[in-house]
Amino acid sequence: MGALAFVDYHGEQVVLDGPEAVSLLASAGGLEAATVSACRDCRSRVLAAVALVDLLELAPVHPRAGELVEFADDAPTLHLYLVDAEARCRHRRWRDPGREEWLDAVAPRAGLPRRP
Ligand SMILES: [Zn+2]
Repeated sequence: MGALAFVDYHGEQVVLDGPEAVSLLASAGGLEAATVSACRDCRSRVLAAVALVDLLELAPVHPRAGELVEFADDAPTLHLYLVDAEARCRHRRWRDPGREEWLDAVAPRAGLPRRP
């Protein structure tokens, strides 16, 4: 399991390395409670910023939780975008409108390859 990047609509990022990502997902119920839309085949997803703050404040303390709460509090829009940085996934089975929003937010700004 590789790194995860939390990206906001302005392209600001908080990146978790592999072990941090695994422990965060484990301590926060896979972030399901904050997930608006998600790829079925990897960990990339659209997150509701407010729900993410609530979730991280409830979750057992994670070393990066404080930083992520601050990041989510400062988010310029209602959503944050989680990028499964090392997944070789083309998100083909991710078919709801969240996928388009995620691509718009993530691909041009974060320097990540657009994966149609
Ligand atoms: Zn995917």
